[in-house]
Amino acid sequence: MSARRDFDVLIVGGGLVGAACAALLNQSRATSGLTVALLEPAPALVPRAGEPLDLRVVALSHAASALVREVGAWPALAERQPCAYERMIVWDSSSPAEGPDTLIFDAAEAGEPDLGHIAENRAVAAALLERALAGGALLLRTPVSGIELGADLARVATGERRLGAALVIAADGADSPARGYAGLGVEAYPYPQEALVAHLSPARPHAHAARQRFLPGGPLALLPLADGRVSIVWSTSPAHAAELALLDDAAFGAAVTEASDGVLGALVAAGPRARVPLRRQHAPRYVAERFALVGDAAHTVHPLAGQGVNQGFLDVACLVAEIGAALERGEDPGDPRALRRYARARRAGNVLVGGMLDGLWHLFADERGVVKRARRTGLGVVNRAAPLKRFFIDRALGG
Ligand SMILES: Cc1cc2nc3c(=O)[nH]c(=O)nc-3n(C[C@H](O)[C@H](O)[C@H](O)COP(=O)(O)OP(=O)(O)OC[C@H]3O[C@@H](n4cnc5c(N)ncnc54)[C@H](O)[C@@H]3O)c2cc1C
Repeated sequence: MSARRDFDVLIVGGGLVGAACAALLNQSRATSGLTVALLEPAPALVPRAGEPLDLRVVALSHAASALVREVGAWPALAERQPCAYERMIVWDSSSPAEGPDTLIFDAAEAGEPDLGHIAENRAVAAALLERALAGGALLLRTPVSGIELGADLARVATGERRLGAALVIAADGADSPARGYAGLGVEAYPYPQEALVAHLSPARPHAHAARQRFLPGGPLALLPLADGRVSIVWSTSPAHAAELALLDDAAFGAAVTEASDGVLGALVAAGPRARVPLRRQHAPRYVAERFALVGDAAHTVHPLAGQGVNQGFLDVACLVAEIGAALERGEDPGDPRALRRYARARRAGNVLVGGMLDGLWHLFADERGVVKRARRTGLGVVNRAAPLKRFFIDRALGG
C-alpha cells in the first residue's frame, strides 16, 4: 500500500454525516487548510427542481440545522423546502390526543421560532456535499476495500488504488465496512420491529406539528412536509409492516387514519412505501490509530425520537473541533490524544441518548396495565412540570 500521504483526511462514506464532516473540515478556520478526500461509491442523488419529495426524510434538530447553516449549505437545502415544525405532540393510544395526558412541546415556550426542520435525506446530503466540494474536498466515486493503520500513516485500499492519509474517518453507515477493516467491533441489538415509511395527504392541515402516537405495536410518527402532506414512520412488527406494505392505497390510508386516531382527519395514500429493519447498535471503541468512527458507523438508535443524524452531526462537530485544536497545538490531524478526547466525549453522549431511547421504547412496548397507566400519566406529568419539560425541549432542540 501507499507509503506517502495523499490527503490529510480521508472520509469513507458521503451520506449525511460524511458529507457534513467534509464540509465542516473545509469551512472551519482551524481545519480549512487540510486536504480532504471523500470515498462514496453510490451515485449522487441530487433532487431536481419540481421533483416530488423523496420517501426518506429526517427531522433535523436546531443543533443539526445550525451545522448545515454554518457550512453555508442552507440556501441549497432551502430550494427543497425543508418544513419547519413548531410543535411536538406525543400521546399514548390509551388516551385522546386532545386529553390532559398529552405531552406538547411548543417552540414558543423555548423562545424559538421552531423546533427543527423535516428535510429530505438526499437534499441534506447533496447540499453538504456541494459545500465540501466548493471548499476543495475531492470526491472519489469508489468503495473502500481495505484499511491498514500505522503509527505514521493510515492506508486505504480502493480497487487498484492505495491512498495514504494522516486520518481516516469512517462515516459509511451502520454496516460500516471500514469499521471492520480497522478491526473495531460493534454491539448490535435488533428490535422486533420494522419502520414502515410513506407520505400521505391529511384532510386537516398539519399546522407544522410533528405528532407521535404510541400504539401497542409501536410508535406512529406523522411529520409535516412543506407540500402539506405528512411523512409517516410507523414502527411495528415485521409481519404487520409486510401486511401494511401490501395493502392497496385506500386500505392503507384507512389503516393509518385509524392508527393516528383521526387526529388529522382522513389520510389519503398515494405513492411508494418502504420498510426498514430497526436495530440499536453501538461500537465499544470509536477510535483506533489514525482512525475514527462517526454517525451510524458508531451508533444507531430507534427512530422514535428522530435522533440518528442529530447525534451524527454532534460527532462531526466534536471531532472537527478536536482536530482543529490539535492543529493549533502543532500536532497532526491524526493526533491520538485528540482522537481519544473525541471518543470520550461523544461515546458518553451517545450512550446516554441511546439508553434513554431504548428505555422509552421498552416503556411503551410494555402492555401491562400498571405500566400503561404510569406512562400515560407520566406524559401528562412532564407536560405540567416546567423544569422537566424544559429538559426535554432542550433535548428536542439538539442540545
Ligand atoms: C425510518 C427511519 C427514520 C429516521 N428518522 C430520523 C430523523 O427523523 N432524524 C434523525 O436525526 N435521524 C433519523 N434516522 C436516522 C438517520 O437516517 C441515520 O442516522 C443517518 O442516515 C445516518 O447517516 P450516516 O451518514 O451516518 O450513514 P448513511 O446515511 O447510511 O450513509 C453511509 C454512506 O456510506 C456509503 N458507503 C457504504 N459502504 C461504503 C464503502 N465500502 N466505501 C465507501 N462508502 C461506503 C453509503 O453509500 C452511504 O452513502 C432515521 C432512520 C430510520 C431507519
